[in-house]
Amino acid sequence: MPELPELEVALRSMASCVTGRKISRVLVERERSIRTPREDKRAFARGLAGRSVRGIERRGKALLFHLSGGWAVVFHYKLGALAICRKQPVATTDGVAWNFEDGSALDFTDMQLSEFHLAHEEELGRLPVLKSGADPLTGSLTAKKLSALLPSKKQLKAALMDQYALGGIGNNYSDEILWNARLSPFRKVSELSGSELEELARQIKLTLRESIKAGGEEEFRDARGRRGRYREKVHRRAGQPCPRDGHKIEMIKRGRKTFWCPHCQK
Ligand SMILES: [Zn+2]
Repeated sequence: MPELPELEVALRSMASCVTGRKISRVLVERERSIRTPREDKRAFARGLAGRSVRGIERRGKALLFHLSGGWAVVFHYKLGALAICRKQPVATTDGVAWNFEDGSALDFTDMQLSEFHLAHEEELGRLPVLKSGADPLTGSLTAKKLSALLPSKKQLKAALMDQYALGGIGNNYSDEILWNARLSPFRKVSELSGSELEELARQIKLTLRESIKAGGEEEFRDARGRRGRYREKVHRRAGQPCPRDGHKIEMIKRGRKTFWCPHCQK
């Protein structure tokens, strides 16, 4: 599932092929991905046609396309999708495609529960898909700010994944951040010392930035079709040696899977 780094990579790789382009025709093959207006592909296609893309931004795990005339489209990857820039118009798609007036296109394909919402800019605040907490990479994330944001009674992994506290961190990067910070995923936020909170705040930013630089995780492809090169240290590496000390990486499944090294994460 794409998280903050993959969304950031997607945004950067598609910005130049959509910004300033005018949408001429919209194809919707996967009708159930149109969530606002609900499964109404005609209204969605009509609402986009003739509008220009003024800009894109990331909000948590969603991409927000600002259109001319005060309208906006939200795209949420959910379990995954490939949003790819095409140099030619798209005639058929398995998902949703936006054809631009200049002959290029943006094709959303391989969608796994991904969703679109078309709304007026003033209505965006009402969309649950856009509700998320502070952005870990915007402004300065200090130890003090982090302890105010994270739910104190929760264990660290669950606290990092709480989208209403910090937006954009999921199952993958919560494991990676905690390994980098040498903290056990099962500690509670309230148990952390000042210096541990400081290190956690630092590693949140470093881990996310490291993955953005690498183009996201290996299963992810950006809008130009380039595969990510971020290699996980512990996530999905149960039974393999910890890259820090060689001890065996453990995995426990309680609803979701948690990966960690019991030797160096305290
Ligand atoms: Zn270790």
